[in-house]
Amino acid sequence: MLQQVNGQETSSLPYGNDPLSKDLQVFLGSDFQLAELDDLTKVNPVTPATVLKCLQERYQVDVFYTNAGCTLVALNPFKPVPYLYCPELMRDYHTTPQLQKLKPHIFTVGEQSYRNVKSLLEPVDQSIIVSGESGAGKTWTSRCLMKFYATVANSSASQETHKTVERIEKRVLDSNPVMEAFGNACTLRNSNSSRFGKYIQLQLNRAQQMTGASVQTYLLEKTRVAYQAPLERNFHIFYQITKGASSSERLEWHLPEGATFHWLPNSERTLEEDCFEVTKDAMLHLGIDHSTQNNIFKILSGLLHLGNIHFDDSEDESQVCQPQEDAKCFVTTTASLLRIPKEELLETLRVRTITAGKQQQVFRKPCCRADCETRRDCLAKVTYARLFDWLVSVINGSICAEPSTWTTFIGLLDVYGFECFPNNNLEQLCINYANEKLQQHFVAHYLRAQQEEYAAEGLEWSFISYQDNQSCLDLIEGSPVSIFSLINEECRLNRPSNATQLQTRIESTLSSNASLSRNKFSKDTNFIIAHYAGPVQYQIEGMVEKNKDPVPPELTRLLQHSQDSLLQKLFPSQEKEPNDLSGQSRAPVVTVVSKFKSSLEQLMQVLHSTTPHYIRCIKPNSHGHAQRFQAEEVLSQLEACGIVETVHISAAGFPIRVSFQSFLERYDLLRKSHPPQPRPSSRLPSSSPTKEHSGQQATPEKDTVLHALIRDILLTLPPTAAT
Ligand code: ATP
Ligand code: MG
Repeated sequence: MLQQVNGQETSSLPYGNDPLSKDLQVFLGSDFQLAELDDLTKVNPVTPATVLKCLQERYQVDVFYTNAGCTLVALNPFKPVPYLYCPELMRDYHTTPQLQKLKPHIFTVGEQSYRNVKSLLEPVDQSIIVSGESGAGKTWTSRCLMKFYATVANSSASQETHKTVERIEKRVLDSNPVMEAFGNACTLRNSNSSRFGKYIQLQLNRAQQMTGASVQTYLLEKTRVAYQAPLERNFHIFYQITKGASSSERLEWHLPEGATFHWLPNSERTLEEDCFEVTKDAMLHLGIDHSTQNNIFKILSGLLHLGNIHFDDSEDESQVCQPQEDAKCFVTTTASLLRIPKEELLETLRVRTITAGKQQQVFRKPCCRADCETRRDCLAKVTYARLFDWLVSVINGSICAEPSTWTTFIGLLDVYGFECFPNNNLEQLCINYANEKLQQHFVAHYLRAQQEEYAAEGLEWSFISYQDNQSCLDLIEGSPVSIFSLINEECRLNRPSNATQLQTRIESTLSSNASLSRNKFSKDTNFIIAHYAGPVQYQIEGMVEKNKDPVPPELTRLLQHSQDSLLQKLFPSQEKEPNDLSGQSRAPVVTVVSKFKSSLEQLMQVLHSTTPHYIRCIKPNSHGHAQRFQAEEVLSQLEACGIVETVHISAAGFPIRVSFQSFLERYDLLRKSHPPQPRPSSRLPSSSPTKEHSGQQATPEKDTVLHALIRDILLTLPPTAAT
């Protein structure tokens, strides 16, 4: 039903940047102040057009946050609005008893989660799931929420714990600039785009102070180290070291002023994110001392030098390729910075070794020029990816609290949004799959669960249809056969990958799934998946190879021979060779998709065990301009996250849902026929700790309970109705 409404409205939407449609103006009346509606559930009727218009009017008067039932819609202001994130406002949100009386804000979501942690009704871990497309403001929002918790969680600290709490919070906040320096980059869509997914859990003790945090990262886009799309950049940290190194560091790291590096495009552009000092200070606070930092930056510089090594074609197949004349010096500097033997570096880049036969004879086969360069890129990618993972583990070591010191957590999830480019490959498939999983979580948790619960409780309710993405997920990851299983099988068979063959297999085995189709007019082998956010055409060529993510064993061995203490940690000598697809290693092949799938499954389990809160970040325009609202763009984002369905269900549904057990525990005293039941003392709202510990039984008076009931009801009402 709703989708039909969606369909009609989207296809004939009259406004772009845009004057309000005539019909809608007439319908709404000129004195109707849409900008004053804090919750989209109050828009009447709820259609994509009215929801859009409401957001547009609010945006025009600098109101960026709007509730959409259980979710918060956050429009990116694309301009500094410091008054919205100042500590005073944070404290306001923290101290105001009736949160609903305050304007919608990310701090409402933050504070609500914080209150839930200690709430009598739902004392469980919380998750805030921040979603939206690239540049919509997910990372900004997560950062602000971390600052919010650092501010409010400290306000309850006693004087003696104040200093410790402050120190921990500083470290937790310092993890952001470090992870962003190494994991973010300037892309066409966002000058500070996160190239990895992140779930951070803020750990709270019984007094609700932050005692630490832990970070889990997902799928770093490591190819960026060796390949940057036109007009995009490498990870920020490379620009930071080349721009911010001191003269002695330049000497040591072989980074003379003005040096040009092939893997450092668009360095003439200076960004706010290029500040080396901030990263170094934050690393120091996290316990990464100057000497380790020096090692890290030397390795990074080594990778930049590696990127300048180019080869000439060899004269014939039996000859090795020679480095180009002007690249010879880079072989020397790379070897010296990575502290590996120069001859071994050259040999590894240019010669493939094959072990065969019963005697395990070793054969040397010179690589062609393209293969030499692939091996060079692979060396850089594997080194950078390991460095990033090591950094994350060091950060965790520095910020993670002892399990005994915390009882609950608030998790913040900031993962890459849905992607659809002219060319989409395995990376986009994984990213879009992650978004499908999150959408499924939302659908299951909110849209379906709420309606099923109404039906089960026999409430009068007409079912609102919503887009269930199960068939799409079955297509991608289902068993026994799915796109993932077919790609994995190709990897296991270890034969030269053939895109046409894979396309045929996908079509013949999965054609019954309605979410699958193919662009028959494209000359590339492809498949199209109808994602909940829209159809995406994926290119099959290269997918199997990317899924194998092969690291030639010679490369790992080379790095194991490094004299650098950090590289020795990243590539321990006793380690089994990863993903050696040459048949020389007996370790099972772990493909990219199987690793990603299992890490996502773990994430989903964690999310399912928490009370989720959703923030949907929206990008008002694709240019990053303030005060510009492109209706078409916003509409497609609203559709992608099912906002209109959410608003419909929220508007028609009940404002609060409390389990029967919790309700009974709280209001049991109101039953005339039943004497008051003692409740577990730790769950009493007004019981003082002295009472609990002295063993005195807390038996609140009936009016206290009545008062609590009235307060609970008032809290759920909109401010106007409540007064
Ligand atoms: P990606 O998926 O590429 O990582 P993202 O959703 O994390 O994108 P952010 O990096 O958070 O996007 O935001 C992009 C830019 O938008 C920020 O660098 C900042 O300039 C601006 N921005 C986002 N939110 C706000 C805000 N609340 N106030 C002011 N500026 C903002
Ligand atoms: Mg981001």
